[in-house]
Amino acid sequence: MAVNKVPERAQVVIIGGGIIGTSVAYHLAHLGWRDVVLVERDQLTSGTTWHAAGLMVTFGSTSETSTMMRRYTRDLYARLEAETGLATGFDPVGFIELASEADRLEEYRRVAAFNRYCGVDVQEISPGEVGNLFPLARTDDVLAGFYVEGDGRVNPVDATMALARGARQLGVTIVEGISVVDVGSVGGRVTSVVTDHGTIECEYVVNCAGMWARQLGEKSGVNIPLQAAEHYYLITEAMEGLEAATPVIEDPANFGYYREETGGLMIGLFEPVCAPWNVDSIPEDSSFTSIQPDWDRMGPYVERAMSRVPAALETGVRTFFCGPESFTPDLAPIVGEAPELANYFVAAGLNSIGILTGGGLGKAVAEWIVEGRPTVDVTAINIDRLHPYQANREYRRTRTVESLGMVYQCHYPNRSMLTARDAKRSPLHDRLSDEGAYFKDVSGWEAADWYAGAGHPPDPGPLTWGRPAFWDIWRSEHEACRNGVVVMDMSFMSKFRVQGPDAGDLLDTLSANAVNGEAGRIVYTQWLNEGGTLEADLTVTKLEDNEFLVVATDTAHRHVETWMRRHAGNRRVSITDVTSGFAQINVQGPRSRELLQTVTSVDLSNATFPFRAARHIDVGFARVLCVRITYLGELGYELYVPAEQAVHVYDRLVASGEPFGLRHAGLKALASLRMEKGYRDYGHDIDNTDDPLEAGFGFAIAFDKPFIGRDAVLAKRAAGPSNRRLLQVRLTDPRPQLFHAEVVYRNASPVGYVRSASYGHTLGGAVGLVMVEGDRPVDADYLRADWQVDVAGQRYEALASFRPMYDPDNARIRT
Ligand SMILES: Cc1cc2nc3c(=O)[nH]c(=O)nc-3n(C[C@H](O)[C@H](O)[C@H](O)COP(=O)(O)OP(=O)(O)OC[C@H]3O[C@@H](n4cnc5c(N)ncnc54)[C@H](O)[C@@H]3O)c2cc1C
Repeated sequence: MAVNKVPERAQVVIIGGGIIGTSVAYHLAHLGWRDVVLVERDQLTSGTTWHAAGLMVTFGSTSETSTMMRRYTRDLYARLEAETGLATGFDPVGFIELASEADRLEEYRRVAAFNRYCGVDVQEISPGEVGNLFPLARTDDVLAGFYVEGDGRVNPVDATMALARGARQLGVTIVEGISVVDVGSVGGRVTSVVTDHGTIECEYVVNCAGMWARQLGEKSGVNIPLQAAEHYYLITEAMEGLEAATPVIEDPANFGYYREETGGLMIGLFEPVCAPWNVDSIPEDSSFTSIQPDWDRMGPYVERAMSRVPAALETGVRTFFCGPESFTPDLAPIVGEAPELANYFVAAGLNSIGILTGGGLGKAVAEWIVEGRPTVDVTAINIDRLHPYQANREYRRTRTVESLGMVYQCHYPNRSMLTARDAKRSPLHDRLSDEGAYFKDVSGWEAADWYAGAGHPPDPGPLTWGRPAFWDIWRSEHEACRNGVVVMDMSFMSKFRVQGPDAGDLLDTLSANAVNGEAGRIVYTQWLNEGGTLEADLTVTKLEDNEFLVVATDTAHRHVETWMRRHAGNRRVSITDVTSGFAQINVQGPRSRELLQTVTSVDLSNATFPFRAARHIDVGFARVLCVRITYLGELGYELYVPAEQAVHVYDRLVASGEPFGLRHAGLKALASLRMEKGYRDYGHDIDNTDDPLEAGFGFAIAFDKPFIGRDAVLAKRAAGPSNRRLLQVRLTDPRPQLFHAEVVYRNASPVGYVRSASYGHTLGGAVGLVMVEGDRPVDADYLRADWQVDVAGQRYEALASFRPMYDPDNARIRT
């Protein structure tokens, strides 16, 4: 029932009464925060939630965060009735993922091993067993099924109502029929929520407005680049042989999922090319929306999906439904505190899995607000990974076409998004293109992955779980860096100039390492939060007493910037994003000094330009910041070149490079070179849940000075060696490939999974970084054991090490 009166104040105001908003409210209340108001424009569930198909599936993700959220959500739906008296309709009828192509079989075997490690009870079953469980399904082309007996379906409306009642029982106020029209702020911090029925003073706001979240965020300058798209299912007339207890099936190769619905068959669709809905803006007054279905567009996909259950082709369709759902540029939700406005949280953009992750997501958001920082790895879902240009109308319209279909694509390791490309180009783009660069999307930048060579159009060949068609090119770029010299364009790196009398104090307070020493030095450091876990992994270069350059990876761009700005306080410091102003050209390899010396008059000898030196040098007509540092494990230099002189510097290098065998090298080589050396990559192998000691950064901590997180790290150090530690592993068999999420065994017991990996062309096998969680301290003695890695269900022998397996003494980078 609509209540058109709002309280005058609350600690937290949640905007939106779908599955996400009610889940955040429920979990805040359970954490003891009860001064919470949830404001819903119309009725609870009236946005997207009411028409969801209700699949409750824990199988399928290689993200630990997502898998834990799914498991938690399923358990929550199973127990909510006991707590609230309202049933959620959760029915564990079982779930089967079908593999009918060899590559999908490989994918699901990899996923199954990882999901089992995360506690999902998934079994690989034969086509015959699939047929027994779902007799109406055609199984002649099925290679295997992946069966989770405890998964099933839930009623999304009932689950939302149960969460709402659970929240109300603990004191949360829920008001319906009231629209939020704006969010008030003072000094960059939320102060109130303005509704069409009055203003609520508050400390926090959580935007859970589903497909409306973007336009609501825009009013406060908060970037939430999600877009609604058409999403379809149909329900047939009653079908003989279809029981209510029949498991849910997903058949991604045929774009369909299937479950029983009141005697008929529900067939849901994830077509490979989808249709965005209302790109300009979502109508403010649309509720319980049902979109006119586009039969012509969907016809072929419907037919294909029905071919899995042939009886459906002979049965009438009772309902053909199309509803809008929000999709994001990278198919991950948009979660966390907005970089633009303190205490403005967002939980939206659920990419068709809001019901099956909603419980866990609400819990994570509530914990984030209450604790002041996230309690799970949020690097892949954090709102600050996204950039304002991604909210542009044209970008959303173009990218969303691809997003929905990605749900059912085979998730090959090297796949890059194909739409909305060419959004950002390095100043060297055309030159690199002439060298046959194969570009991939790196935070919107066109970044060279590998080079076919001048005059050769790059052909990546088919996507594969095995060795890609460009294997030999990749290997030779890798070897050129180990034995000669390569040039690598890394202009997409995030770069900030930090200046002012208090710049050194700010950066030294943020950095675990000492960064405010002598000028002309680069320092590798981590930034921590008060809990002593990692916020960023970056370099700080002191240029002058009051001037620094901070460089971080592309995905950390806005996180690093926001972290600096939020901690600057009253310090006399200015922070400028100079990412676009400077190209970063890396010259790396044992012959890099010889090559660079031919284009500059500055003495680069080891004595005068040692490892970690940073100085301005001349290159032709250009003045370039040259930093002797490496992310590849060789003698090398990073050149920061004013964008307008980048081509000039590049041309000088290339023109002088021939006698040294200069090669262009791309990001595939970067990945294999850095992985052999065990160099970390934030958001891939280290994240916000790791502390620096576990992550192996003990060497980069200056305990003799204050820094944020120091007390927490000192306490951990005093507690002795941790049971958790990042290790490097390498397969001794040169054939299998590691990518991510392969489970690692120690003496036949699972102890972790590969967070990121590559092939090591010098080491001669796949190499990965794995966070091991032991039952005792992970020390040198712990390493002496039998190590194996599961690759798609088969275990391979491995070596494990704390120290990098390539050049453990750093001899090659210091000479
Ligand atoms: C056809 C279809 C099938 C699906 N099947 C599944 C499935 O099987 N499993 C699964 O996990 N997911 C499924 N989904 C996805 C799922 O429905 C969504 O991810 C989920 O419902 C999103 O929930 P939400 O709370 O973010 O958004 P919503 O449910 O849209 O909630 C947002 C709420 O915010 C309110 N609101 C907006 N603006 C304001 C304002 N200014 N002031 C106050 N209130 C406001 C709206 O009225 C709305 O109630 C499906 C989606 C579709 C379309």
